[in-house]
Amino acid sequence: MDAVERAAALRDFADQTAICTRCALAQGRTQVVFGSGSPDADLMFVGEAPGFHEDQQGIPFVGQAGKLLDTLLGGIGLTRADVFVANVLKCRPPGNRDPLPEEIAACEPHLFRQIELIQPKLVATLGNFATKLLSGKPAGITRVHGHEQEVTLGARTVLLYPIFHPAAALYTPSMLKVLEEDFARIPALLEHVLDEPAVAEHTDAAVEPELESVQLGLF
Ligand code: URA
Repeated sequence: MDAVERAAALRDFADQTAICTRCALAQGRTQVVFGSGSPDADLMFVGEAPGFHEDQQGIPFVGQAGKLLDTLLGGIGLTRADVFVANVLKCRPPGNRDPLPEEIAACEPHLFRQIELIQPKLVATLGNFATKLLSGKPAGITRVHGHEQEVTLGARTVLLYPIFHPAAALYTPSMLKVLEEDFARIPALLEHVLDEPAVAEHTDAAVEPELESVQLGLF
């Protein structure tokens, strides 16, 4: 599938996911928060779950943590349109409680399908839930943040880059400093993964950025 076909497939998949009833969170949600950004992003962020504002607006990371994410992205010269942002859970847990294991298990195929269609090269996991799910290991974010690792997700090998969740840094200046330092490594990691031969085809597609973004659209 080329990038245009994958973008169309992602759109179809978003439509299917919008009526998901795989877990009990379907009953309390305003809407499914599928994810947003470029359907052909090289860099994908995976957070935890929608909160109040995300559930209302249908877009991930639009609350306070999202504003910090935007600032951190701006600090490395990127915008939301350059990346794809999604969560482990697509529906808001009541009262923003932690995701339950059965909810993560029910929602996991959605995230894996998104990764398969978007084909990111670098996946930054924000916080413990995304890190543990995608690394397949129990090590927590405090231990592994800032340490990239290759992981195989379905048919794809990606570079996984665990970092703290922006919400954790909102009121803790020392945490914010660590998050900024970990963010600052993203451009070099991206350059590294984009240097690999498998992406040569993608670089050619970027020659006509306007045409490409018109064809792919944004989520
Ligand atoms: N926190 C998350 O993990 N995801 C969101 O979408 C918003 C806040």
